[in-house]
Formats: sequence, structure tokens, C-alpha cells
Amino acid sequence: MCFSRIILIFTILMLFFGATVFLAVAEQSHEDLTSQAGVFSVLEEGNYDRHATVDDMNKYGDLGVGGFENMDGELIQLNGTVYQVTSDGVVHTPPGDTGITFMNTVWFNPEQTHEFSQSENITELEEELNQSFPSKDCIYAIRVDGFFPEMKVRSVPIQQKPYPPLSSVIANQSVFNLTNTTGTISGFWFPAYMQGVNYAGFHLHYISADKTVGGHVLGCTIENGTALIDPIYSIKVVNEKL
Ligand SMILES: [Zn+2]
Repeated sequence: MCFSRIILIFTILMLFFGATVFLAVAEQSHEDLTSQAGVFSVLEEGNYDRHATVDDMNKYGDLGVGGFENMDGELIQLNGTVYQVTSDGVVHTPPGDTGITFMNTVWFNPEQTHEFSQSENITELEEELNQSFPSKDCIYAIRVDGFFPEMKVRSVPIQQKPYPPLSSVIANQSVFNLTNTTGTISGFWFPAYMQGVNYAGFHLHYISADKTVGGHVLGCTIENGTALIDPIYSIKVVNEKL
């Protein structure tokens, strides 16, 4: 295995008429930076190789979402702990050398708070978050703690080579309809111009407060929730295999 590493820093410049991305090599910074294992367009085509490990990504942040090597379940990182929800719905705390194929993490320092005072569905929740974003040119890391009368999550089954494309994996997803759970959504919102490097729009994962259920969020209703929002201005793509 080759342990050399390529680190790419896409620093986002917000300009009056939109945004420009430039590529540079830079030193690691914890300020308003998301570190990313893998690239979404590569994942979409069906590459589920390991691009980092749990230990690697824990060095780069304490809140994140992603997926494991061979697409073995959904990944949610909360307060510095990485959890794995396998396709049987079981929540694990995987060992540090567990492979990750795709993940974003940040040192979460929220700058905005948004309260959900009435019952809302996922569309309303995302719309409210969207309206609270001061700019549509940067990335946002998001954490929502609350009571969820309904929470629809999925996980995906482990894959073997030759890997099928992501659409085929999702076609065989396991869906879990959780009722009346308290827990946390964590995830990201990426601007449209970053589609390919990442997934444009919201990518949210959920884990219950007792860490027994969770997965990739497909839908929910929320009551009495609080969103914490952290604007992110830089992205570092980490590939431990290169
Ligand atoms: Zn996901």
C-alpha cells in the first residue's frame, strides 16, 4: 500500500456575481474547512474503495457524514465519534482502521442557530435552513437536535467487486421508519456549482440519542428542534491511497 497523500485545497472565493474555485496546496487549517475523503462523482460511478480510515478522518474533524469501504452501511460522525449503521439497521462503533470510501468532516463551530417551534416535515425543514443561509456560494455544516415523530432513514448493503453503480446500490437499500425518537441530524449543504466534487444540496444523516438507530435521512417530521449552522469556506480532498 502506498502511503503518500495528495491533498487538494479548493478554496472558495465568494465574488459579487457568484463564486470561483481555485486549486492550491495549503497547510491544514481547522478554520471553516471541510476535509473530504473521496469524490462524489467517483462514488456515483461505483468506486467504493477505501480513501481514508476512521482514524484518518477523526484527525480532521468531529462532525461528519459519509459511507464505508465496499458501501458497508451509512456513516455519521458526532462529537468526534464515527458510527456505522449497517443494512440490518444495527449501529456500530467501527475500529479506527475501518475503511471509508466517502466522507466530509469539520471541526464544528456553529455561527448560527435556528429554532423549529412547530411541527415540520423534511421539505419545510430544508427550506427554513436554506432561507437562513446568508449566502448560497459557500458550504454549510449542519447539526439539528430535536424530537422526531417520524424519521425515515436508509442504509445500504455491503458490495463486492466488480462494484455496481451507486444507483443500483440504492435500489437495494434497507428503509427504516422510526417513530417518536429523540436524536441528531448531521450533514452538509453544498452549492450547485460543486456537484461532482460533492453532492449539491442537503446530505443529512441521523442517529438517535441512545445511538441504537439511524441512517441516511430520506424524510422526517420534527418538533422542538434546534439547528446549528456552520458556514464552510474551504474544502480539502484527502486520498490516502494515492
Ligand atoms: Zn448519505
